[in-house]
Amino acid sequence: MPLYEYFCEPCNGVFEELRPMREASEPVPCPECYKDAKRIMPTSFAAFTFREGYPRRIPDDGKYYHLGKKVTKPVTSGRPNEHPEIDKPEPKKRKLKGEKQEIADMKEAAMKEALHDSSGNLVQPKEVESMVEQGRILR
Ligand SMILES: [Zn+2]
Repeated sequence: MPLYEYFCEPCNGVFEELRPMREASEPVPCPECYKDAKRIMPTSFAAFTFREGYPRRIPDDGKYYHLGKKVTKPVTSGRPNEHPEIDKPEPKKRKLKGEKQEIADMKEAAMKEALHDSSGNLVQPKEVESMVEQGRILR
């Protein structure tokens, strides 16, 4: 009997089933949820499959999917709905009090046209903060 591929929509999963050719186009119950899964053509249908318990897209490019987003690793720790590649926003760097004062001082210097960047150009007061963050002003 030939091997066919079936796609279960609720599970977003693909499974293979050995079936007689005349029954190939009929739906097969999904092994996960027992709902009818439709047959797919592996070459023309980019679907999800389960590998190591995580949905992955066919053709398999070695990537995993988490909540519909492409990630390089499955979730191994933390809360199941959080993925380090998706749910951890870059923590916003908080400026220290001293740093704020320093920027204020530099703005003052810039207003007096006394502040220069690392290549010797005059710095405008409104540019001070972003240039400090990018490390373009020698402190
Ligand atoms: Zn299913």
